[in-house]
Formats: sequence, structure tokens, C-alpha cells
Amino acid sequence: MRVLVVGAGYAGATAAVRLAGRSRGRVDVTVVNPRPRFVNRLLLHHVAIGRRVAAPGLRDLLGTAVTLVPGRVVDLDPAGGRATVAGPEGVRVVAFDRVVLATGSTTAVPLAGGEHVHAVGDLEAAQRLRPAFAALRPGADVAVVGGGFTGLETVAELAGRRPDVRVRLVTAGEVGAWFTRRGAEHVRTTLRELGVEARGGTRVRAVEPGRLHLDDRGEVPAELTVWCGGFAAPPLAREAGIAVDDRGAVLTDATLRSVSHPAVLAVGDAGHTPGPGGDRYSMSCQFAFPSAAHAADLLRAEALGQPVDDALDLGFTARAVSLGTRRAVLQPTTRDDVARGRAWTGRAAVLAKLVQVRGVVAAIGVERRLPGTARWPGAEPRAAVASAP
Ligand SMILES: Cc1cc2nc3c(=O)[nH]c(=O)nc-3n(C[C@H](O)[C@H](O)[C@H](O)COP(=O)(O)OP(=O)(O)OC[C@H]3O[C@@H](n4cnc5c(N)ncnc54)[C@H](O)[C@@H]3O)c2cc1C
Repeated sequence: MRVLVVGAGYAGATAAVRLAGRSRGRVDVTVVNPRPRFVNRLLLHHVAIGRRVAAPGLRDLLGTAVTLVPGRVVDLDPAGGRATVAGPEGVRVVAFDRVVLATGSTTAVPLAGGEHVHAVGDLEAAQRLRPAFAALRPGADVAVVGGGFTGLETVAELAGRRPDVRVRLVTAGEVGAWFTRRGAEHVRTTLRELGVEARGGTRVRAVEPGRLHLDDRGEVPAELTVWCGGFAAPPLAREAGIAVDDRGAVLTDATLRSVSHPAVLAVGDAGHTPGPGGDRYSMSCQFAFPSAAHAADLLRAEALGQPVDDALDLGFTARAVSLGTRRAVLQPTTRDDVARGRAWTGRAAVLAKLVQVRGVVAAIGVERRLPGTARWPGAEPRAAVASAP
């Protein structure tokens, strides 16, 4: 069986090494990725403030059992089993029997003036933000839009790096609303101490150079705006005629197979997979790794002629959110990813975040050396033992 994995982020790299390692030569695994180095997306806001972020070479990370094709899939024929790849060596066609879409997500700016904003959703955007942020004059106004995890982490990093500029967070919901009380208080206090002016309950209507226009007719001065208001999948799946949701993510059944094209599986941010409650699993590492491992196991079973109708069984446990270099919140969650219980805010939380961001690359290496090791908690409390990253 020839399996093509499109994208070598967390999900694509994990799926590829697990499948190649576990199928013992019965499956040819090819990975297409635009860059020769791994991008640790969890640290793109660090790239934006000029911090050095490790970027291991993909050939070493994926190992010799996986064929790496540098380039971007620009056209996909899921029924015909052909992908057109544009890369440094020109355009070529890669044939496949099954394709795993692991193309991740990028920043989506769904309003007028989107061309004026910066972002941290992909490497190129973070690299563009870096010189623009560094060039700001002292006293300049900076706005981060979006109070989700990416917005909180980004605003804290920007404010920590440049105490000489005025940093504001503008978010439609309450600031820190997702956390339980203690976690939310820690978020708000930390942002205050970093000098961030946080404005909750404020929706941005349009962006123009120098300012944000709000729904309530107010304005926020912003020489530089960083949009953290939401991610969407790249257009490849939609353009290929695969059924997608309104954010371009592939609609899959609970086994991760596309509902429109059975030869297509989608993992990580690229897939819209219903969890046990019916809602989509959130775009996160906690979904990327297990979904990738599950897809690899499903394809291995298919290649071996075994039953392949297992649904992904996944439960969330906690979220770690950094707030600059020295603060973080570790928030336990229900298996359905709802904040619960007492949030950790001290050194344990900072350490947990450090382990998470460093652990993602390590976890891919472990999966390559010892394929099949990654495990994760199941949706039901007694379903499985947690040992996933
Ligand atoms: C700043 C930031 C902080 C974050 N913090 C957290 C956090 O603390 N916890 C958490 O759980 N999640 C966090 N996330 C989200 C997390 O990074 C994503 O959920 C995760 O990266 C998804 O992994 P993925 O493999 O699906 O996609 P990605 O890691 O985005 O990888 C997708 C890969 O596919 C490639 N690709 C795309 N299109 C094509 C194509 N046509 N052809 C070939 N290759 C293609 C891309 O170049 C990329 O290499 C954060 C995200 C950002 C941006």
C-alpha cells in the first residue's frame, strides 16, 4: 500500500513514523512538506519576538523508513490517487493508494482590512512579524486580537519583550473566560503586571492602518496588530472536492476517514472529527498526536487485511498556557476539554509548559525509535492509561 502524508507538522510526522515503523515494509510511506526542517508551532510567538527556536531536520526526525519529498501539494486527485507536488526540484506527481491530510491550519482573518494584520499562525507570518515588531518606536501601540490560548500566550510574550511599547489585548469574550476562577485570576493579574491593557467583551469590526474599529463604534489605536482570532485549514482539501467544514477542515467520521472520499484520512488541525459529544475535537496537540497515531494504526490494519472500523477514543486531561517566560497556568480539564478543578499557577505550571513544548519533538523521535509507544487517555475515565505527550 502506498500512503502519502501531506504535511510534516506534529500530526503528519507522527503518522508517518508510526506507520512506517509498525508496518514493517508492507506500506510505502511518503511525506511531502514545504520545508526541510520541522516547525514547532507551539513556539511561533517566540520566533516573532526574535528568540531562537530549535528546528530539527525532517530527514533525521522521520528516519530512513519514510521517503521525504520537499515541496507543497498544489493539486490533489483523491479518487485517482495522484498528488501534484511543486518543490525545489520542479513539479512532480506522487501516486498513492491512501492519503493522510496533515496540512494543519493557518490564521484566518474574516473581516475588512485583514491585509493590515500580522499573525503567528505559521512560520512565514511569524517571521514577517519579527522585524515589524522589533522596528516599533518606543511608546507605539500594539494590539493582539483574540483571547484564546494563542492570543494570551502571544500578548504576554510581546509585552514581556518590549515593555517600552503599549500592548493591548482585544477579545470578544471575557479575558481568561475559559479557565476556572483561580486560573482566570492568574491570567488577568499576570497580564496587568506585564503592562497589558486587556479589553474583554470587545469585538473588532474592521482593521485599517493605525487603528481597529470596534463593533460598538469605538476605536483602538494599533500601529501593529497581531491577529489571533482564529485558524482555518489551507484550501487544498476544499479545492480537491473533499467535503470540508466552513473552516476548510476535512469532515471525517469517528475513524478519521473523510466522509466523502474513503481513501482520504485527515489528522490534526486539518481534520474536523466529531468527539463523543458531537463537537469537533479542538485544534491542539492533544488531538494532533492521537489522531495521527490512530490513522497510522488504521492504515496498518488495512494493509494487513485486518478490521479497520475503530473509532478514535480520546479524552483530554489538561491545558498548559504560558504567560511570558516565567509564568504559566496548568488547567485540568474534563475528558471533553472543559476546564475543571484547581488551576496550577506556580513553577509546576511553568515546568509543565516547558515539558510540553520540548516534548512534542521528542515524542516524534520516540515514536520513530519505538513505534506504537504513544498512548493517550480515552473518552471514558477508565478507557486507557495516559502516557501521551
Ligand atoms: C503560536 C501558537 C501556539 C500554540 N500553542 C498551543 C498549545 O499550547 N497547546 C496546543 O495543544 N496547541 C497549541 N497550538 C496549536 C497547535 O500548534 C496545532 O494544533 C498543531 O500544530 C496541529 O498540528 P498539525 O500537524 O495538524 O499542523 P501543523 O503543525 O500546522 O503542520 C502542518 C504542516 O503541513 C504543511 N502543509 C500545509 N499545506 C501543505 C501542502 N499543501 N503540502 C505540503 N505540506 C503542507 C505545513 O507547512 C506544516 O508543516 C498553538 C499554535 C500556535 C500557532
